[in-house]
Amino acid sequence: MDPAETLAEVAREVAVCVKCALYKGRKKAVPGEGPAQADILFIGEGPGFYENEQGRPFVGAAGKFLDELLESIQLKREDVFITNVVKCRPPGNRDPLPEEVATCTSNYLNRQIEAINPKIIVTLGRHSMGLFMPDAKISRVHGKPVRAGSRLIVPMFHPAAALHQPALRASIVADFALLPKWIAEVDKAAKTAAAKTAAANAAEKEAGKKGGDKGGGENNPPTQLSLF
Ligand code: URA
Ligand code: SF4
Repeated sequence: MDPAETLAEVAREVAVCVKCALYKGRKKAVPGEGPAQADILFIGEGPGFYENEQGRPFVGAAGKFLDELLESIQLKREDVFITNVVKCRPPGNRDPLPEEVATCTSNYLNRQIEAINPKIIVTLGRHSMGLFMPDAKISRVHGKPVRAGSRLIVPMFHPAAALHQPALRASIVADFALLPKWIAEVDKAAKTAAAKTAAANAAEKEAGKKGGDKGGGENNPPTQLSLF
């Protein structure tokens, strides 16, 4: 299945999913939206009141703020993929329970991440951060990227929390301002890795010619990305 088909399939499945209790409060499931080939994936917590009405992520006050943050780095909502840890609204906007998070992510979010294969995942709030950095404290690590293979995970405060708290608001604005730099770093690392692999393959082929064996380059170990 190509990435866009996988995302469409996930959206069809969440619309009728009854794998956890959150389906009971669902008006519309919120699978997430954006291009299948997005470089950046934003992961929030879960649908709130307006998202549940409309079936779209981040359409309330927090969403408006997220749009502003994207604009501040010359990005539009259509340039990125936006989704949540859980796809159905927790009652009264309570935190999703660990078993709800586990069920929903293992069935849906993980498939979305694999299909989109983003260069950068921005986690918005504690719940999505917890998927990648279970022991981290958001007040300490926000804005600091960690590597996961060739991908970067950048934890940030949740825009709903940052909206009304001046200190958090300043933090999320500053953390967003650094995103273009992280994108450039990932691109540079990918190019360097590709060049190294190409050079190693060429060298192996050359050595193969001299030694009389075939030398196809298939024994090269994967090139480790070095970002920092
Ligand atoms: N808050 C979230 O975490 N996700 C949404 O989609 C909207 C608000
Ligand atoms: Fe299914 Fe996720 Fe909705 Fe639970 S939150 S019912 S696992 S789609």
